[in-house]
Amino acid sequence: MDGAGPLRMSGANRRVLVTGGAGFIGSHLCRRLLDEGCEVLAFDNLLTGHLSNLQALLGHPRFSFDHYDVTNFLYVDGSLDAILHFASPASPADFERLPIQILKVGSLGTHKALGLARAKGARFLLASTSECYGDPLVSPQPESYLGNVNPVGIRGVYDEAKRFAEAMTMAYHRHHGIEARIVRIFNTFGPRMQVDDGRAIPNFFTQAIRGDDVTVFGDGAQTRSICYVDDLVEGVWRLLNADYVGPVNIGSDAEISMLNLAQRIIALCGSKSRVVHRPLPPDDPKVRRPDISLARKELGWSPQISAEEGLRRTRDYFLEALSP
Ligand code: UDP
Repeated sequence: MDGAGPLRMSGANRRVLVTGGAGFIGSHLCRRLLDEGCEVLAFDNLLTGHLSNLQALLGHPRFSFDHYDVTNFLYVDGSLDAILHFASPASPADFERLPIQILKVGSLGTHKALGLARAKGARFLLASTSECYGDPLVSPQPESYLGNVNPVGIRGVYDEAKRFAEAMTMAYHRHHGIEARIVRIFNTFGPRMQVDDGRAIPNFFTQAIRGDDVTVFGDGAQTRSICYVDDLVEGVWRLLNADYVGPVNIGSDAEISMLNLAQRIIALCGSKSRVVHRPLPPDDPKVRRPDISLARKELGWSPQISAEEGLRRTRDYFLEALSP
């Protein structure tokens, strides 16, 4: 470790493992870490991640990929300076499709990744989630809000896996003295979201571009705050390098209703699609907006890319992804 102050992760001698490296956020993170001069090892079992997300990185001399399920015993040769644990399905569509895998990667996978961090003396950064707050009774949500989660509901598999992961991270930090960081990620969007991901933004773009009906669940009055992926990655990078454990909310604080979002995406695509309403899934949060005062104070971070600009870039990505 460097002398006084937190270890900076920049520099060619830094070796970093990203679990879930082939995922939407994981792949953007790998790119950023390479740009910062790190050597990057990415692990992914490709359950919801895709090798195509890493296409541009696969030949890079400081990048390697392992097709590996991190719920199994984890071993890496040589030193590691940091582990960023981003492996997990994260779309509500996966909560019913992959419930056991979600619980396993949040619990067993986090345990294995923490064990490796301890063995290597590496810093450990956990990708946690706004879902820790469940269907919040407080808005915006500060980190001090303890949440309103239904453990036996459909979303419980993700919410409780991540809450367990936070508890496990703090136990390793307090009991074993590992350097820990916890980021609570709010709705994030951008290029490399999968067409069949099932979340609102990929669904709306795919439907609008194809001219299909755009499916708004419920009356569409429920809100989310959408953050462009480059802003999110900047927040994660700052937290990794900061002398602060967290948890820290990273997300946009510009709140938008799902009906409004659907209409904006239809307009942005110049589409003739119409909005149709479908039943609201159980426990779907009615509001979600981060209080980002802590990120501003501790990391000097705030989102820089407007929703409009982010949506334009994402439209261009989906136009290409859906072109024949
Ligand atoms: N949603 C929707 N239509 C869709 C997919 C999602 O109206 O085709 C709604 C969903 O019910 C939720 C919001 O959009 O209220 C955001 O859903 P998403 O799946 O993006 O993730 P969440 O924020 O719920 O984890």
